[in-house]
Amino acid sequence: QPDRETLTWQGFGDASRELTTSIVESGWVPDLIIAIARGGLVPAGAISYAMGVKAIGTMNVEFYTGVGETLEEPVLLPPLMDVSAMDGKRVLVVDDVADSGKTLKMVMDLIAEHGLSLDGETTVRVEARSAVIYEKPRSIIHPDYVWRVTDKWINFPWSTLPVITA
Ligand code: 5GP
Repeated sequence: QPDRETLTWQGFGDASRELTTSIVESGWVPDLIIAIARGGLVPAGAISYAMGVKAIGTMNVEFYTGVGETLEEPVLLPPLMDVSAMDGKRVLVVDDVADSGKTLKMVMDLIAEHGLSLDGETTVRVEARSAVIYEKPRSIIHPDYVWRVTDKWINFPWSTLPVITA
């Protein structure tokens, strides 16, 4: 059993406010928030309310199939977000944790490539930044905004209890 870090609902509430404060204090406010589903959904919702930014979209990515168990690469699942909706916007991409960092990197690359594909050159059409509650030291990407760094497996309040079945 690897060491665990447990985030409570109250702890999550405080983390969301603190993370949002650090984003706002950096002088950057997004036009649009993109939640990486499902882990980023609850954090993105909390940040959206804390910031007063109502425009939210989601990108659905699957990678982990169990504790520490992953597919080979993260895969984008339907329904797919229309990336052109991000044109000309400041976009904040939110996830719960950058662990390997592969999921967040895939989404950031996808957004960056969309900018490239429009005219074959680098454009500044989409300015995307990323925010996570946790970053692991091994992550291949360093998110722009991070609440805490840990190398433990994190128990998030929304995925700790068993699924309710009839
Ligand atoms: P990554 O691609 O950065 O390795 O991780 C992608 C996703 O896997 C995260 O957004 C999260 O949903 C899940 N994940 C990775 N590490 C942890 C962890 O320590 N605890 C939990 N509950 N999920 C994790």
